Amino acid sequence: MIITSHFFDAYLKCPTKCWLRSRAELSAGNGYADSVCAENEAYRAEEFARLLASFPENDRAIASPSLQNLSDASWRIAIDVRLRVHDMEARLQAIERIPSDGRGTPAQFVPYRFEFANKLSKYDKLSLAFDAFLLSEVLGRKVGLGKIMHGDRRTTLKVQMSLLAGEVRRRIKEIVVLVSDASPPDLVLNRHCSECEFQARCRRQAMEKDDLSLLSGMSEKERKKLHGKGIRSQISTRRTMR
Ligand code: SF4
Repeated sequence: MIITSHFFDAYLKCPTKCWLRSRAELSAGNGYADSVCAENEAYRAEEFARLLASFPENDRAIASPSLQNLSDASWRIAIDVRLRVHDMEARLQAIERIPSDGRGTPAQFVPYRFEFANKLSKYDKLSLAFDAFLLSEVLGRKVGLGKIMHGDRRTTLKVQMSLLAGEVRRRIKEIVVLVSDASPPDLVLNRHCSECEFQARCRRQAMEKDDLSLLSGMSEKERKKLHGKGIRSQISTRRTMR
């Protein structure tokens, strides 16, 4: 199976979400998730336009440039670049090319992501690092820097990719194992559920099993301990008795 950035981003938030996406599971819909997604899309469209406008017209590559020519490129900025290498695939939101300084240093390629959120998480940086990892595989050289433009103030965060490369490799290996399994991982409701397209499905399953993850505020350690003793949430039991 091809490991895509769509799976990678999901895995960072929840292994079940990644597995369901790998099976093209249909979503029952989640209004909040849809509105977060729409806000992010609108933000990206606006930031694409601003970024492109900051480069002279001749330096722009609006359509995805071909992979063969990536290292011979003459453009300075490219939008929506699709990369596929070693059973992995990513759709990079933008790449800036910094030309060689003429002293033997090759041109540098800087992947970009755009996030609506004012506050970034480690996951946003890891998602960018996945893009950088694929880009470095295609180019056959290190990609040292990535940028995330985000929030109301259009802040640009520079992220050192080398610090995250090891974790990206480890997570890719975990995803390969996860998606090769015919069954989904154990369901654990979590903080991301309210923004997830599978919320209705997972909540229904958790209610059917009276799963302890229905109780918010419980740590994974506590949940596993009680689960081992056969203790359930009793939320559905209480509802039945009312
Ligand atoms: S609803 Fe929650 S548990 Fe289910 S896939 Fe989404 S994040 Fe994971």
